[in-house]
Amino acid sequence: MAGWIRIIGLGPGSDGLLTPDALRWLELATDVVGYHPYVSRVPARPGLSLHPSDNREELVRARHALSMAQAGRYVAVVSGGDAGVFGMASAVFEAVESGDPAWAGLDIEVVPGISACLAAAARAGAPLGHDFCVLSLSDNLKPWDLLLHRLRAAAEAGFAMALYNPVSAARPWQLDEAFDVLRALLPGEVPVIFARAVTRPDEKLLVCPLREAKAALADMRTLVLICTEATRLIAKSSDECWVYAPRSVTRS
Ligand code: SAH
Repeated sequence: MAGWIRIIGLGPGSDGLLTPDALRWLELATDVVGYHPYVSRVPARPGLSLHPSDNREELVRARHALSMAQAGRYVAVVSGGDAGVFGMASAVFEAVESGDPAWAGLDIEVVPGISACLAAAARAGAPLGHDFCVLSLSDNLKPWDLLLHRLRAAAEAGFAMALYNPVSAARPWQLDEAFDVLRALLPGEVPVIFARAVTRPDEKLLVCPLREAKAALADMRTLVLICTEATRLIAKSSDECWVYAPRSVTRS
């Protein structure tokens, strides 16, 4: 008898932002599959097998999960944030499409989670309160030219932007090039938010103008929010402010 697969977003880090639905499926699972930092967030218990794996092994991991479900296991495939935002959900469906035709008939459900951009925006105020887009700065699975094209198009169209995967050891220069491209199109005063490890004990939020933004302010646990010309700042204290997008906007 076949089991099931639940593709679960664990949220940005704190237990409070793990949804009750996600928690319920994790309690019913027999197996947890995912990138090791996410699997380590699932508490061990008798009867639960953890299958942590390395980064960039998404398809192998997805096929493993599908084979286990086919063999009758109850499999949680976990991602940080939301599994559909640069997470495991796409990898599982790629594996279904290219794998055993019987996999398409398996009991699969995607359980939404709170993505990093929502948690980061909440900390800053409401910088994504108007139209925005979400981009991954990683050029592992897409050409860098295409990313620059999308960045320029988003800046020209006036979208706020949430930049995931801004830097890594293997991609040290991309974020500075992205800032240069944006500086050519947007005023230097546009606020940029560096939201690091949001909802984790080492959380850090920094707001600076685009003219001062640099890759050295980010690491792989940082989400970078590029605001717009319409974004407003309200001083909370001498070194802290709220950042919000007004509800109405005109064409500049
Ligand atoms: N599926 C995840 C994103 C995975 S891509 C989600 O929906 O949030 C990994 C990137 O997400 C990181 O490089 C970072 O840019 C961002 N990220 C994930 N968790 C974060 C957190 N707690 N604080 C800030 N950024 C985070």
